[in-house]
Order: sequence, then structure tokens, then C-alpha cells
Amino acid sequence: AFNADVVPQAPEDALFGLMAAYRRDTDPKKVDLGIGAYRDNNAKPWVLPVVKKADELLRKDPDLNHEYLPIAGLAAFTSASQKLILGDESPAILEKRATSVQTISGTGALHLGALFLSKFYHTKEPRTVYFSDPTWPNHFQVFSNVHLPYKTYPYFKKETKALDFDGMISTLEGAEPGSIIVLHACAHNPTGVDPTQDQWKKIADVIREKKHFPFFDTAYQGFASGDLAKDGWAIRYFVEQGFELCIAQSYAKNFGLYGERAGCFHFVTASAADAESTVQRVASQLAILQRSEISNPPAYGARIAATVLNDKELFADWEADLKTMSGRIIDMRKALRSKLEELGTPGTWNHITDQIGMFSYTGLSEKQVLKLREDSHVYMTKNGRISMAGLNTNNVEYFAKAVDKAVR
Ligand code: PLP
Repeated sequence: AFNADVVPQAPEDALFGLMAAYRRDTDPKKVDLGIGAYRDNNAKPWVLPVVKKADELLRKDPDLNHEYLPIAGLAAFTSASQKLILGDESPAILEKRATSVQTISGTGALHLGALFLSKFYHTKEPRTVYFSDPTWPNHFQVFSNVHLPYKTYPYFKKETKALDFDGMISTLEGAEPGSIIVLHACAHNPTGVDPTQDQWKKIADVIREKKHFPFFDTAYQGFASGDLAKDGWAIRYFVEQGFELCIAQSYAKNFGLYGERAGCFHFVTASAADAESTVQRVASQLAILQRSEISNPPAYGARIAATVLNDKELFADWEADLKTMSGRIIDMRKALRSKLEELGTPGTWNHITDQIGMFSYTGLSEKQVLKLREDSHVYMTKNGRISMAGLNTNNVEYFAKAVDKAVR
């Protein structure tokens, strides 16, 4: 018989534990820099105005019902998602070399891709997955849950608080040929450090030479720079270069649809005479996996996103909302850096504005992070990562002073 006594206690999820500690803190000055969700200048969750509009439109539709979606999800959503990430005129779309499945947000897309690769991308041994060091911690769990072994490639250089490009390249060069390389498409979490376009080209060269398989994780398109094409550049470049690859796409951050779990998994095959039939076979297997895991995906978030993505005017509204979010974050980067420099806080702070997206890797040590929590009620992860979205014009000076105190 099953003996539940053998089940060991698992550690609490670090981030969700941090959120709980923040909620328990009764100090009115407390600052939450842990959570990876956008906040407005009043530290409140923000429903994008375009999402409100789409929601109103949907609610007016007398034919709207709660039937199941197809196994692969809402077609209007998956086809618009392909165009969004690959570009309207992508050869992969025109040549029918891409197949897409609606998933439980980005995490579900990563899982479906990992599961698919664990079943079908084999030699004698399962392929090794390479993650950046550091990476979004859930990557480790998602891929090891489907029994793929993993390693890491260097990514962040402590001394410069920038990309460890040489370390990354030499590890990819030394990796077993055919390894799966997980790449953050933009706004790398947790560091906020992205390769330049020239660096991406070199990364692509090594991946091609070593016959590795690229797996892109895109959770911040449009949210990073405010420009959808710019944030999608790396993926589009790899597709242009003829790679076969996977993409896990999330609409949590760029639509503010966190809890609605809207996302998409894409498989793009290389240009070949039988590409269309390859994609059809892949799609048929993805459908089986999806059916056994979630049967079919949740409808609401996908309907909202599809309404916006397929309407010119709403799309333009969305782009403006993306500019609002990314613009406020960029402003907070500037404000934080200049306040720290004004205070003469020991260290260099240019990395705050060099980094991009939701997060900044401050370079603060674990000891300093804990001191910030104890002395100043500032909550951030132990690795020194802050969510820029938690800063606003009311608390950025307070935070800069708290950092100054913790560093001295
Ligand atoms: N990948 C990265 C790098 C992320 O930062 C996140 C969210 O924080 C995700 C994927 C997936 O998030 P979700 O499942 O909410 O779409």
C-alpha cells in the first residue's frame, strides 16, 4: 500500500514565500520588489485599458458561451500569436513550417515543449538541456519533471554585472552536440541582461555548428523595450537563419493577463520539401500530449488577446499600453540610478539603466538583501534581483536611501 509517511516535506517556493512575508509586514513604508508583475505608479496592479475594452466587447457578444475550446486552442489566438512572435511576413508562416498550440501561459508552453522533446528528441540517452546561469528557477523544475537532464552555461559576469559572453560561447561550443539550449528571447529573468544583436549572431553560429536545438522562452515581448519587433528580433533572426526550434510564449506580462494563463507553444521546422508534413506530424503528437495533460486550454485570456491581436485599432491601443508600462519602468531605472549616484553610494550603478525589462540584478549580496528587509522593510529575492515594477515616484528615493545604508 502507499505509505504517505515517505513523502518528504518540500521547501516553500522562494518567491511565493517572499510574497507571504511581505503581506505579513505591517510597516506602511514596506516595498515589494519581489513579485514579477507590473504595478502602476501607486503600486497597484494595472488592468491594461485595451484589455478592459476587449473584455467589454466580449461581454456584449450574445453568442459567447462556455463550451470547450479545441485541443490546440482558439485558432484566432494561435494564428495571431504566430504572427506576433515570428512577424507577419515570416517565411515560416507563409511556407506552413510552424505549428502552434495554446497552452497554460508560458509555463505550460515550456512544459509542453519539454514533454514533446523528452518523448521525441532522443539518441540512446536523453538530450541535455542547457539553461543560463542564472535563470528563471522554474526552468529547472519544468524540464527535470519530464526527466531531461540539465546543465548550465555561464551568463552573468559579477564584476561587470553584464553578459559573460565568452563563458557562454565556450560552454555552448563544448556542449554535447545536439543539446537543447534554452534562451530568453528578451529581458532575461533574473538579470535584465540581453545579448546584443551581434552577440546573438555569434550564438546562432555556435548553435548551428554544434547542431544544438534552440528553445526560446519569450515572456516579455513588447514589455522590455516597448517595441514588439525589437523584442522579437532574436527569434526572428534564428528563424530567418533556417533553424528548427521551439518557442514558449507568455501573455502574462505584456497583456497583464497573469492569472488568465494565456500562452502559446510554437514548433518551427526548417525549410525542406517535406516541411509541411513534418509540421503536421508534430502537431498530431502535440495534440495527444495536450489532450492527456489538460484536454483543452482555458478560453477567457485567449479570447481577450485574440480580440486585440486581430483588430488594427485595438492592436495600436495595446502598443500604447506597452509603451506606458515599459516607459514607466525605464523611468524608474533612470531615477534609481541617478539617486544612487547622487548619494554617492559605493559601487557603480550604470548596470541599472543598461539592463532591461522587469528585473534588475543589482549586485547586492544576500547579506545586504536581508539587511534591507530587516532595516527598511524592502522585500527582494536573495540573489539581489529587484522587480523594477515595484518602484514608483513615491518610493524610489526611499529605496535608494535604504540601499545606500545597506551597502555602506
Ligand atoms: N519564462 C520566464 C523567463 C518568466 O520570467 C516567466 C514568468 O515569470 C515565465 C516564463 C512564465 O510565466 P507564465 O507561466 O506566468 O506565463
